[in-house]
Amino acid sequence: MKTVIRKHIRVDIRHNDTVRVITGRDKGKEGRVLRVFPDDAKILVEHVMLVKKHVRPNPQRNIKGGIADQESRIAISNVQLVCSTCGPVRVGREIRGDQKVRVCKKCGTTLDKK
Ligand SMILES: [Zn+2]
Repeated sequence: MKTVIRKHIRVDIRHNDTVRVITGRDKGKEGRVLRVFPDDAKILVEHVMLVKKHVRPNPQRNIKGGIADQESRIAISNVQLVCSTCGPVRVGREIRGDQKVRVCKKCGTTLDKK
């Protein structure tokens, strides 16, 4: 039987968020979150962790062959959510009305887009 080790990491990052890479090769880069993999605690960020991929030409789908840049997954612990006024921040949670929202720990503004 395969044992599944669940990492109990709170995932505060969502699709379309803007994040800043705080450590690693792409430290300092900012980008939009393309995909979230909560089970692996990883995300895919636009223009971050680019790797060269050899692409096979496929004329039917209008794909030219060659080498293309493609994003690879980065650990959520290596990025921080960007607050529009404070920059990269830690995320808190608050109940506003009857909704749970994510807030910036520095200025208290909600980080959820309406
Ligand atoms: Zn803030």
